[in-house]
Amino acid sequence: MAVPNESLEHIALCPGAFDPITEGHIDIIRRASEMFGGIIVAVAESADKKLLFSLAERVQMAKEACRDLPNVEVHGFQGLVVEYAQQQGAIAMIKGLRAVSDFEREMQMALMNRRQAPHIHTVFLVAHSDYTFLSSSLVKELAALGGDVKELVPAAVLEPLYEKLKDPSAQDN
Ligand code: ADP
Repeated sequence: MAVPNESLEHIALCPGAFDPITEGHIDIIRRASEMFGGIIVAVAESADKKLLFSLAERVQMAKEACRDLPNVEVHGFQGLVVEYAQQQGAIAMIKGLRAVSDFEREMQMALMNRRQAPHIHTVFLVAHSDYTFLSSSLVKELAALGGDVKELVPAAVLEPLYEKLKDPSAQDN
């Protein structure tokens, strides 16, 4: 028999903007939670994109959406993701790969992160075929046009999303 995998004692980070969290993210977080002892969903304060929700709102929605996953915690963070991973005692960062288009950017980030922190691994999980088309941006676009996003986001996201889209002045986070 193979030696039991020590990774079950380790912590991994699932970093991202989660603006808002989608079923695609949840699928990756759930599978990561089966591979590691603990998962920290690390919600980045500012990503290099225009965000609809504040950090507190994104953290709150993610917390509710992950409530049924016992070894998953959700935290907001600022600054370099590898530094945050080290602070939290994580050994890995988990990223979802949807399509070839994700690969180039993710590869670049993984190599840059390795330069900054050689002991933090980047682990890529292949997106579920049901969610390869799914992104937070697409959800926001669809919802803004009155489309049905019920099956694309956790229940905790629906109300905040429609509320936010009703009030254009609230969209400048
Ligand atoms: P997005 O790329 O949708 O704006 P984030 O910045 O929040 O989302 O991404 C965080 C992580 O989640 C990234 O590794 C991204 O590749 C992954 N991810 C996002 N959407 C999906 C999906 N539908 N399936 C699998 N992984 C995903």
